[in-house]
Amino acid sequence: MGGVTANLASVEARLRAAERSAGRLSGSVSLLAVSKTRPPEDVAAAAAAGQMAFGENQLQDALTKIEAPLPAGLEWHFIGPVQSNKTRAIASHFAWVHSIDRLKIAERLSDQRPPHLPPLQCCVQFNVSAEGSKSGVTTDQLPDLAAAVAALPRMRLRGLMAIPAPADDPDEQRAAFAAVRHALETLKSGGLALDTLSMGMTDDMEAAVAEGATMVRIGTAIFGRRARKAPL
Ligand SMILES: *Cc1c(COP(=O)(O)O)cnc(C)c1O
Repeated sequence: MGGVTANLASVEARLRAAERSAGRLSGSVSLLAVSKTRPPEDVAAAAAAGQMAFGENQLQDALTKIEAPLPAGLEWHFIGPVQSNKTRAIASHFAWVHSIDRLKIAERLSDQRPPHLPPLQCCVQFNVSAEGSKSGVTTDQLPDLAAAVAALPRMRLRGLMAIPAPADDPDEQRAAFAAVRHALETLKSGGLALDTLSMGMTDDMEAAVAEGATMVRIGTAIFGRRARKAPL
């Protein structure tokens, strides 16, 4: 309680330090505050401290916050598995979806994106280490899915998201993030205009920044340990 403001400041400081030691421009990595399982009051506290982008992984949990009386201008990112019966609501309420791993889902999101909203920003989820997450596509599947998503009229493919298997060893963390960076570079050399690497969480954000993350997704370090276990 009252800790969100201080936690956010220390995460920002960690992020700036990680940019500095990676020789990257200050402010080049953006912070997505992962507010899943948290009440609207926690989002309000972070917003009061200037945080505008929030990540959620379950639609119902997200809607209680999106529909709460919170400051205008917050940007909502969907970062969890997308079920096909949820695509209409996700397309209507979110600015970004990080977790595209099936063309069928991307097509539905594109079809259902309301005309008054800009295209839905998205990332394809890359399964860089099978134990990290069951979601995401393999290296073999990636080029075709990325090309097909990039061609959808109401989606704007920005890059890749990954959740590597947890590892304590920083070298091991970096190796996984380097593989994601290489996958993005391969797609770019194949002609796709991409600029986003969504990678890095509370326990591995420094390694992710060192390997080129452009957006880190941080929950625990901002809001504290989650009371109930939320699925990745
Ligand atoms: C929960 C979650 C995070 C945040 O993880 P922390 O370890 O709490 O920082 C990031 N990305 C995704 C996809 C998540 O589900």
